[in-house]
Amino acid sequence: YRAKQDLASHRAYEETLDHFTPEALAMRAEFAKAIRDETLTLVYQPKLRLADGALVGLEVLSRWTHPTKGPIPPVSFLPLAETTELIHPFTELVLRKAIGQVARWRAIGHEMPVAVNISANNLLEQHFADTVRTLLADADVPPQLLELEVTESAVMRYPELMLKRLHDIRAIGVRLSIDDFGTGYASLAYLKRLPVDTLKIDRMFVTHLDTDEGDRRIVRSSIQLAHGFGMTVVAEGVETQVAADLLKRKGCDQVQGFHFARPLSVAEIEAHWLARLPRRELEIAADGVAD
Ligand code: C2E
Ligand code: MG
Ligand code: MG
Ligand code: MG
Repeated sequence: YRAKQDLASHRAYEETLDHFTPEALAMRAEFAKAIRDETLTLVYQPKLRLADGALVGLEVLSRWTHPTKGPIPPVSFLPLAETTELIHPFTELVLRKAIGQVARWRAIGHEMPVAVNISANNLLEQHFADTVRTLLADADVPPQLLELEVTESAVMRYPELMLKRLHDIRAIGVRLSIDDFGTGYASLAYLKRLPVDTLKIDRMFVTHLDTDEGDRRIVRSSIQLAHGFGMTVVAEGVETQVAADLLKRKGCDQVQGFHFARPLSVAEIEAHWLARLPRRELEIAADGVAD
């Protein structure tokens, strides 16, 4: 037992050290530079209503291309930010870019809500809600067009404090969703108190829905649970029509996944998704109330 414990603490020590190897430090410096130079880019994954296939919003996902190593996935660059103070300028940049995009789409008549992922350490920062409010006001974007996604496990790191922070965010009119639901440890008693609008069922339970009876039961109960609390349910990671049909039959509200759309660039979103939608001005003109 002793040996096992030593091994575990040794591993934890090594993992900490991993952040300080010359390679890790160089990567972090490059990442910090990408934030400063604002060369990080955003892609947008459509979120669809299952009942009629309508586009209801876009999830914002960050992308980083390292100058020599090429594209680095979020699972690799997020720890560089999340283990340091970099998480604050990183999230601010993502929010500012995403909110700016919402403003540009509004200017051409598209009211398109976006959802931005945030980390536990963003919520721990006392003035985070103020920062979000200021960014929205500076771009003249209504708070209802922004949703913040926070993972169930991030919330459960400091349940009581997070509850307070989530209430602060909800108070400015921004919507909230619990991401990767089913992989954290929220109790029913805690869920009941969460001021969130949406539960996003983790991809882990959705991808093999067509073959895994256990996953089907988890998804069915999650949908009932969310609806019981008056929340909207989104299933992420929908890769097949079979999964989409199952989700629709079980009453899931919205879906995201490669079967419908991958995360896309602004140009792709505009060409393949927004181009099909009526614009606000045109709708108003058709109703005869344009001024
Ligand atoms: P997430 O928020 O749960 O986002 C969904 C992830 O699943 C994205 O991966 C997306 O590309 C991927 N995905 C979507 N549909 C499918 C599908 O049908 N099949 C499969 N296999 N994958 C699908 P991505 O972009 O690599 O992001 C991974 C995670 O990194 C995100 O998970 C989110 O937690 C985090 N992340 C990404 N961008 C940001 C950001 O700007 N800020 C923060 N704090 N976290 C971010
Ligand atoms: Mg998300
Ligand atoms: Mg997720
Ligand atoms: Mg995830």
